[in-house]
Formats: sequence, C-alpha cells, structure tokens
Amino acid sequence: MSHVTVSDDRPVRVRVAPSPTGDPHVGTAYVALFNRVFARQHGGKFVLRIEDTDQSRSSTESEQAIFSSLGWLGLTWDEGPDVGGPMGPYRQSERTAIYREHIQMLLDNGHAYRCFATAEELAEMRAHQKANKLQLRYDRRHRELSKEEIERRLAEGQDYVVRLKMPEDGATTFTDGLRGEITIQNEEIDDQILLKSDGFPTYHLANVVDDHLMEISHVIRAEEWIPSTPKHVELYRAFGWEPPQFIHLPLLRNEDKSKISKRKNPVSLEYYERVGILPEALRNFLGRMGWSMPDESEKFSLDEMEANFTWAKMGLGGPIFDLKKLDWLNGLYIRELGPEALVDRLMGWRIHREALLELAPLIIERIERLEDVIPMTSYFFGDDFTLDDPQALIPKKRDKLSTYRAVKSLTEAIDNTHPWNAETIEATLRGQCEALEWSPRDLFMPTRLIVTGRKATPPLFETMEALGKARVQARMRASLKVLKP
Ligand code: GLU
Repeated sequence: MSHVTVSDDRPVRVRVAPSPTGDPHVGTAYVALFNRVFARQHGGKFVLRIEDTDQSRSSTESEQAIFSSLGWLGLTWDEGPDVGGPMGPYRQSERTAIYREHIQMLLDNGHAYRCFATAEELAEMRAHQKANKLQLRYDRRHRELSKEEIERRLAEGQDYVVRLKMPEDGATTFTDGLRGEITIQNEEIDDQILLKSDGFPTYHLANVVDDHLMEISHVIRAEEWIPSTPKHVELYRAFGWEPPQFIHLPLLRNEDKSKISKRKNPVSLEYYERVGILPEALRNFLGRMGWSMPDESEKFSLDEMEANFTWAKMGLGGPIFDLKKLDWLNGLYIRELGPEALVDRLMGWRIHREALLELAPLIIERIERLEDVIPMTSYFFGDDFTLDDPQALIPKKRDKLSTYRAVKSLTEAIDNTHPWNAETIEATLRGQCEALEWSPRDLFMPTRLIVTGRKATPPLFETMEALGKARVQARMRASLKVLKP
C-alpha cells in the first residue's frame, strides 16, 4: 500500500542530496534512480543538491566523482550545481547567508535559542549523566536564559551554537509514503543543533531550508533518515511551512542482511564502472531493489520502469545487493548488444588510447614482443588470479595475525586516500609502514601480491594508480577474507 499523493497544485519536484565525502556510493545512485523515475513519471523536476556543509570532509574531487558516476549511469538531473536552475545555488556551501537569515527568523520567533555551553561543560554534563545512569542528552541548560544574560555573553564574545526548541511534551507524527503514520514522543528528541559555532548550519537546518526554498514536494531518501524526520517536521512547523511528503526507501543490504557496507560489498560506483558493468544493467538491478514490475519481469529499461512505476509495488523487506544477480543481468544486456555494439562498449570501457597510455609506461621496459602485453597487463583488466594461500602473503618473521592486522590497517588507509595517484599512494603506504612499524619490504610484498597476484610487477605505486582505487579496494578486502584468523 502506498500513502504517496500527487496534487495538481504542487508540481513534483524531488532531489538527491549527496554529501561529497569519499567515493560516490551505490546508495546515492539507488536514491537518485527512484527520485528520477518518480519525477519523470509526473512530468516533474529532479534536482541534484550537494550537501557540503561539513567543510572538513567535503571535497571538490568527490563532488566531481558524483557528477561523473551519476552521469555514467544516465541518471541525469534537471537542476544542479553544474547545470544551474531557477532555485540555486545548488551547493550548500554557497548558501550560508540564506541559512543565517533563517536562523535569525527562528531566534526571533522563539523556536530556537543560543546555547553557550563550552565543550568542557558538555563533557562534564555527559559524565554526570553516565555516572547517574541518566539518559545521555543535552539537558537544555541554556534554553531559558534571560535576554540580559544572552546580551552579556554575546558582548563577551562567547561562542555559541543555535538549537531547536523542541516541544517538551506531546508527540510528532508524520506520514511516511511507504509505512504510513510514524509517531515519536517529543521527550525522546533532543534540542537539535541547527547552527554550529563556526557559523555553518548542520545537516538538519540546511536540508529543511533548502527543501523548502527549492520547493521539493516529495523527499525520497534512505530509511536511515527516519529518526531525523520528526526533527525536520518540527523545523517546518517552527518556520510555519508546509512539510513535503516523506518517502524512505528500504536500505540496501549485504547478503547476510546487514546494512550494505564496503567491508562486504564494493559500494563505490567507480568499481562497477571499472569492472565493466553496463550502466543500463546496474540501473535495472537497482530498480529491482525493493521494487518490482507489475508482471514481475526481472529485466526492464529505465523507460519501462518509468511507465510502470507505482509506490504500491515497493516492498520494505531489505533488498539484498546480490552481485551474482547483477552479473547475470549484465550478461543478458551484453548478449543483447550484438558484436558491433559490444566492440563499441569495449572501446568505451578500457580498450582505448587513453587507458592504454596509462599502461604503456609501466610495460615499455619489460616487453620484447608486442604480444607480451596481453599476459603482462591482464590483471589491469580483470581478476585473472585468485588468492587462496594466506601463507604466500605473510612476510618472513611475521605471522598470519599480524599480517591480517597490517593489511586491514592499510585497507582503511587506502579508503581514505584522496586523490588517487602514485604520490598519494606512496604517502599512504609509507605512512602505514611507520604506523605499523613494518619495513617497506615487509609491507610492499603482500600488497603487491594482493593487488596484482604477482610477485614482480612494474613499480608498485604507479601500478596501483593504474589499477584504480575501486579495484585495489576490492582486492584488498578479498585478501582480508583469506587472512582472517
Ligand atoms: N546529505 C544527506 C546524505 O548524504 C541527505 C539526506 C537526505 O536526503 O535528506 O544522504
């Protein structure tokens, strides 16, 4: 059953609002797909908004990667930071003046207040709550400061955050498009921080202000945001605005039903592009996550999905991201291409001048016949080897457990390596040698074997750059399975 409605006087405007931190996530594509299908079906608009209020974690590189991955998937947007539109700017870092103006509105109408509590004070408060087995939460100590007190503290130049004044009793209810009414007791909700002491808004404030000003009619996002929604509903109320409809999509899950995670599944869209999944196959696959065609057919195009889409066919039982299923589907699309189109796809994938130019410097010193190039570069194109012997990965004088720990630590450091090039990779590897107190020789040997399947290769950092981060990450994680104690 669905509770989603579309009214004639409110045009459908939806958005996907990724934060540009790290590598573009398969969950972003999933949410983008359903937003876009819904918008198209109703002649509405699909907006891409970049939520980069967390300045320390956001990067332009990550933003570019989002554009390029969603573009590769063909999930194009009608309005966004790169294409513009009537309700921009579409990048939150360019909207700080708007948020300040709106915070002032809430301070003036009494729905928000300044909290001057210092980090030490709050730490003390938490320690006290812990010691007395009380609920851990902000105790609202500055909720009712007098005007004079506030003036005094401001005059002294004290730092402050701005918090939402949640109602103390009663409950907040909203309708989720797929789940129906959800009610949360207000006493369970903290006085959420809206503006941080650095003057930047939190996700909650920026998200609500933007959804309102961008006239978003339906907020279609992942299930994990459900606990935030009552805060958002209260914020709409505090501003005196009508909230949009909320539709929370089921979370994608690993095979063991846990929330999809890079530990168990490649989650970077770049991985799927790299290993040669066709965009139409990945779109189709994501379309089947929770949703099904009226005739239950497994293979359908984006146009077919748009023509047949209804929320009523959306289930809530955590869809499993099953790579075998994706491969099967991809195979169907490949066979449908026919030889000519397949060659075009191969050339668009990695059999092209630019990709070969990346490999040429790595092999030029090492080949005698041109034909040597194929065996010598095969691991750049696919998993032509399997790691099954943990012993081979363990350096002399080390054991399995310490190797597992070292590889695990390196894997995490690789996740955080941005941008991806020989210099940054070298810095990561050498940094790990120091942190782990491993010699470069001890750490580079298993790394080389893990990422190439070979003991001898062209220079390691350049090789890892050319392999691409997503493939290196996948191979590192596969080796952890082999090494796991
Ligand atoms: N920036 C949030 C995210 O990264 C957006 C969540 C929402 O759609 O409200 O997923």
